[in-house]
Amino acid sequence: MMNKKYGFFILAGRSIGMYFRAAKWFGILEQTLAILHSFSWAIGIVATQLLFDAAFRASGGNESFWYIAAPLLILAIVAIAQQVLNGAENFIANEVSYKNQGQFMAKLQRKLQRVPAQNFENTAFLDDVNKAREGAAEVAELAWISLQFFTFYVVFFATVGVYLFLLSPMLLIVLFISFIPAIIGQYFHVKIFTKLEEENAPMRRRYEYYQKAIADREFYKETRILGAFRYFHALFSQTMLVVTKKIWRTERKMAVIMLLLNVATFIGLGISTYLLFTNTMTGIISIGAFAAVFAALNHIFGIMDELLIWNLGGITKNIGKAANYMRVMDMEEVDGADGTPDFSKGIVAENISFSYPGREECAVKNLSLTINPRETIAIVGENGAGKSTLVRILTGIYRPDSGTVTIGGLNSTKTQPNAIFNGISGVFQRYQRYKMTLAENVAISDTAITQNNTEINNAISYAEFNEDNANLETMLSPEFDGIDLSGGQWQRLAIARGLYRKNNFIVLDEPTAAIDPIEEARIYNQFKQLAKDKCAVVVTHRLGSAKLADRIVVMDNGVIVGLGTHSELISKDGKYADMWTAQVTWYENRS
Ligand code: ATP
Repeated sequence: MMNKKYGFFILAGRSIGMYFRAAKWFGILEQTLAILHSFSWAIGIVATQLLFDAAFRASGGNESFWYIAAPLLILAIVAIAQQVLNGAENFIANEVSYKNQGQFMAKLQRKLQRVPAQNFENTAFLDDVNKAREGAAEVAELAWISLQFFTFYVVFFATVGVYLFLLSPMLLIVLFISFIPAIIGQYFHVKIFTKLEEENAPMRRRYEYYQKAIADREFYKETRILGAFRYFHALFSQTMLVVTKKIWRTERKMAVIMLLLNVATFIGLGISTYLLFTNTMTGIISIGAFAAVFAALNHIFGIMDELLIWNLGGITKNIGKAANYMRVMDMEEVDGADGTPDFSKGIVAENISFSYPGREECAVKNLSLTINPRETIAIVGENGAGKSTLVRILTGIYRPDSGTVTIGGLNSTKTQPNAIFNGISGVFQRYQRYKMTLAENVAISDTAITQNNTEINNAISYAEFNEDNANLETMLSPEFDGIDLSGGQWQRLAIARGLYRKNNFIVLDEPTAAIDPIEEARIYNQFKQLAKDKCAVVVTHRLGSAKLADRIVVMDNGVIVGLGTHSELISKDGKYADMWTAQVTWYENRS
């Protein structure tokens, strides 16, 4: 799924297209400034030559100061123009870069909304998404550097090159040759550091994980009570040591290579200076040209270094992240027709099968089920039976690999997911604890309507949420000076959130593990009253809750092994009757 490869030029070309689409006129302005800025350097060298030549001619004492005033003024104007262009270009480049990064990130977020939801169950995909997020900045950087290559560096080296060629073709050739060690150095730099990064990345992930295990909120209680601090600390130190040793060895190797190459560059620079000198002595070039080129040599090498080490070096190191971004952007999307579900048509699944990415066996196998209008269905079964998977297919979150699901009259494979979600509400095992106020934690489920406090209060009382220390405005996060809730209260709040959303089909996928069986049955009883005019599905391990449903689906290994009312199912031998016998004591003497 995620192994599409991209060449450097494809990535650069696409990023340039994205750059102009996002930055528009600002992009054109930035690149025009880059061209002018680049030109100004060549003009600066010519202006320096003019000034030195004039000064040389005036040096006999025959001319007044005014003889050099004109070239001095030209040089001053060029120097000021250089500074202004540099400042303006940097300013606009920063603006464009922030704007582009933001837009590329927003594009990625929109894209992630449209890729098939089951991808989010795949850790390889999630890794790629993480890298793609960093890639948004890299794409902006790649576009910028690729454009700068033409609008600044090519213009700079071409104009300076023409000037040098006119002075002395040999000088140009020697200077060009002296760049070669720097290019070779860059090649080694990229190669060696890419290898280092590849070797170190898994190690780094590991020590970051150990660091989390020592101090993160979700880990520290367990780490302390298990006395595992020393254990994780030792693992952390060992891994860190391996990583730093590798970095040290690589840096040392690179330093030796760079030293040798720098010596070669230095020799090239020496030969260039010698050529300049002999050409001046033999009168081929003027004193002014000698001074101008001599003064510019450092700068020419500096710009070459900037191009090779900072710009191309930086981008080749991070090109993988830009590729990740493009790969995610190119993923197939779930698409389909628009529509409005009509739940008086119920939900019909016919011969559906589904398997998770990378798994061969089906989580749901050739299953058919009809949820009638105004019917509440309970789904029960052992861990891994396929209950949650079925719920995700019945709500249109996943599309089945084969078979069809018709949700309120809409075929889930042929309809836009967002059209189906209109009118569906759901509470899942792994619900969110938003770091927001109590009211926002409930109303987030239906942001299309204005927050209605009466309805929020109704929802929280149906879900039996009662926390003396909290009102609707209480912030539910200690990090933001608020309070935290117990696990059971959070679950009730998640249920309230599900109830608040306007819906005609509601699903509770076992959000009640922290609530005791009797309490759960009571909440589900209220839920049943609320859902009496809707389609509803509850997934539960507790049969005291399941028995409240109109019909119960018993699942095992991805298929339905029992279907009927509570009394029908306990009257037959089978999984349900066995589960009931095992659980019945939970409910005795308590209801
Ligand atoms: P539980 O009662 O534990 O929540 P469940 O009945 O809801 O279980 P599912 O979560 O639907 O069962 O899982 C059904 C099958 O699909 C299991 O074999 C499980 O291992 C597999 N499965 C579930 N999630 C994934 C996933 N993200 N990637 C791969 N396989 C998965």
